[in-house]
Amino acid sequence: MREHDAAIANYRERLLDAAMQTMSQEDVGAVEAAADYAIAAHDGQIRISGLPYVTHPLETARKLAAMQLPREVVIAGVLHDVYEDTNRTLEDIARVFGPQVAHLVSGVTKVGKVQLRGEQRYIENLRKMFVALAEDVRVMFIKFADRLHNLEDLEVVEPVKRHRIAMEALEIYAPIANRFGMMSIKAQLEDLAFPFAHPEDAAWVQSLVAETVQERSALCIQMTEELRRILTIKNIAFESLSSRMKHRYSVYQKLLQHDRDITQIYDLTALRIVVHDIADCYAVLGAIHQRWKPLKGRIKDYIANPKPNGYQSIHTTIVADAGGCVELQIRTPQMHEEAEWGAAAAWRYHERGSYRPPERQLRWVHDLIEWQRSIKDPQDFLAGLKTEVLRDRILVFTPRGDVIDLPEGATPLDFAYQIHTGIGHRAIGARVNGKQALQPLDKPLQSGDLVEIITDPKRKGPSPDWLYIVRTTYARAKIKEALRAQLRNQTSSWDAAKHA
Ligand code: MN
Repeated sequence: MREHDAAIANYRERLLDAAMQTMSQEDVGAVEAAADYAIAAHDGQIRISGLPYVTHPLETARKLAAMQLPREVVIAGVLHDVYEDTNRTLEDIARVFGPQVAHLVSGVTKVGKVQLRGEQRYIENLRKMFVALAEDVRVMFIKFADRLHNLEDLEVVEPVKRHRIAMEALEIYAPIANRFGMMSIKAQLEDLAFPFAHPEDAAWVQSLVAETVQERSALCIQMTEELRRILTIKNIAFESLSSRMKHRYSVYQKLLQHDRDITQIYDLTALRIVVHDIADCYAVLGAIHQRWKPLKGRIKDYIANPKPNGYQSIHTTIVADAGGCVELQIRTPQMHEEAEWGAAAAWRYHERGSYRPPERQLRWVHDLIEWQRSIKDPQDFLAGLKTEVLRDRILVFTPRGDVIDLPEGATPLDFAYQIHTGIGHRAIGARVNGKQALQPLDKPLQSGDLVEIITDPKRKGPSPDWLYIVRTTYARAKIKEALRAQLRNQTSSWDAAKHA
């Protein structure tokens, strides 16, 4: 028992240290009270790792404090398993720590009451989580911190369960972090889960990256030095100039796209330049292109055209004097903060109450709730969640300049049904980016495409093979509906003929 007390004291200390970095003395005191409350509530419970259970919520809260999230989020992190796993009630928590904290704890534990088993239960849990998330985005931060610690502890979990938890992190949690623009969390989730989800590939990527980084680091140092000189001569002040390494799972994803050939990955290491304002971003880009030749087709202005998740920066890849390519990323401090923390950026530094996450992120969550309500079959829900909702998105334009948001891999048919069901039913092809030759209905669209759907008014309706072409549940539902109606009409006219 002595060792257990020592472990608890250690985790408690680490949490308070993290809290003290950014919180007021009063807030740290409140976190301390919550820690002691949780320690008493979880007394005697042990985790699979053999450590006292309370080390888990204490570590979850430490991560939240390290993310510089406000007091009520950190406290709810400390208490996140109290309601589910001990005899304390939500009323108890509300009385001691206030209704806000109780609300967050209830959001995180809402999933506890489900009666179903196996996959059914899992799917129901996910649905509930999304509803809780829509009510309060802060619930998600606690879920992420909880997951991260569970992944860190995965070694001790039995292999089958371990694989499932790792896959869930890759298929559900990391994509959610991505949609919230929380790239730092996404990268941590993925790199922790990767070795358990795909052990052999993870080892392969690990050694590949180690080799290549070594090769490239000299080049990076040299480029950084020269860049520093150029910016000083041009009188452009910069906040920071650093190189970043692409995280392993993201390298893996790219390798799979490029025949497992690492020489095809240009942004394995990238130089990141943070300057004070947008004008300076473009000035830096000009200075870089004056000195080095940019690689064709690799200049991306995500400041003028942000990614669907809100990401902003300018990217360019240049050819170094000695050969070899280096990607450069140019951004302002605010863009940098948003790129790393996304929706959480708004909550960091304790700007309590006054700030709400960007509109686009809230809109996404509400779309998600609408979407999940319309799906009745649990299997459709899970499939749709993975292939549609949590996939990367593309933005496609109508001839009038309206923007349509679609999952990656969506086809002109998906686009047509988004515009209008009647246009979907009568579509025969698409004119993309004004090209003369029509694009077939099954060829996926690219982000930024301008799409005009060509219809044939004489067309009777969708054909059954369209069900294999579309990517969105919405288009699929509309096609199924029309096919069923066609079938009914045929049967009734057949009946009419029989009775005639
Ligand atoms: Mn937990």
